[in-house]
Amino acid sequence: MNLVYRVTERRRLILVEHAVQKMQGFAQHRWWDREAGGVLLGRHLLDSHDIVVDDVTTPQDSDRRSRYSFFRSAKHEHIARQRWIDQRSTSAYLGLWHTHPEADPTPSSVDRSDWIQAVSRDTFEGDRLFFPIMGTQNIRIWTLSRRGMFRELKLQTNKDHEQDDSLD
Ligand SMILES: [Zn+2]
Repeated sequence: MNLVYRVTERRRLILVEHAVQKMQGFAQHRWWDREAGGVLLGRHLLDSHDIVVDDVTTPQDSDRRSRYSFFRSAKHEHIARQRWIDQRSTSAYLGLWHTHPEADPTPSSVDRSDWIQAVSRDTFEGDRLFFPIMGTQNIRIWTLSRRGMFRELKLQTNKDHEQDDSLD
């Protein structure tokens, strides 16, 4: 099931099922599960202005993980770069995801500063990055623009019939 979020009046963020399932696989349901995370990989659709998350990177040996923290290593950037090369520059870096051991996740101050740093320092297309947090029940997504506008995206629908032909 794809998840569709409203970004602006004309623009949606679409997480394809494959990417959602990969993140869900790391949801911290057990007390010993550690935080997980990675980068979002996908495309800006030129015709519809929609943004599609096709895939995500998952925890690497070089990451530092605990129940309440996740430090992403440079390995994720290397994977994203390699993907970009392999797919002839069609796979874009779209943001960062991680898990929280809570049902309905909210960003910590560490998360917010991490996101501000990503937007100011990372190289990316478009005017914003996306930051999903996978809780044990809900996945919530925040966005930060280059101009510093910070807000949460509204889930538009999680129904299959919303699926767009342009995704094929
Ligand atoms: Zn966090």
